[in-house]
Amino acid sequence: MRLQPATLAQLADPGRRARWRQELGRKGMAVNAKLTAMLSSQNANLLDLKLPHERKPGQTPLERLRLFLDQVSDAQKRLSAGPDGEPAFGTCVECSVALPLQVLDETPWAARCAECEARLSGVESA
Ligand SMILES: [Zn+2]
Repeated sequence: MRLQPATLAQLADPGRRARWRQELGRKGMAVNAKLTAMLSSQNANLLDLKLPHERKPGQTPLERLRLFLDQVSDAQKRLSAGPDGEPAFGTCVECSVALPLQVLDETPWAARCAECEARLSGVESA
C-alpha cells in the first residue's frame, strides 16, 4: 500500500507540529536515558574495546542508539526551523518529497521517504 505524502498545509499545522515536537522530545529523552545507562554499565568494556574489527560503523547497539539519537535531534532541529526550513521537517532529506502523515505521526524522526530509504540501504549492502 502506498501512503499519500502530507500536504504543505498539514506539515505547517501548529497542532500537529506541537504533537511532533512533544513526541520527539519524549523519544529523545528515552533514547538518551538508555544511552547513558548503556555507557555507564559498559564503560570499562568500551574503554578497552577499540573496535578494530567493526566493519560496518553503526552496527553495535551503542552506535545504533547514538545514530538514532542524532536522527531524533536532527528532526527536532528541522521542526524548530519552521515550515520553511531547509530541508523542512516532514520532507525527505534526500529528495524533498513530503513524507506521509501516518509515518510522521508514528515516527516523527523519519528523515527519508520509503524510496530513498530503500535505495540507500541497497547501496550499503552492495
Ligand atoms: Zn526521498
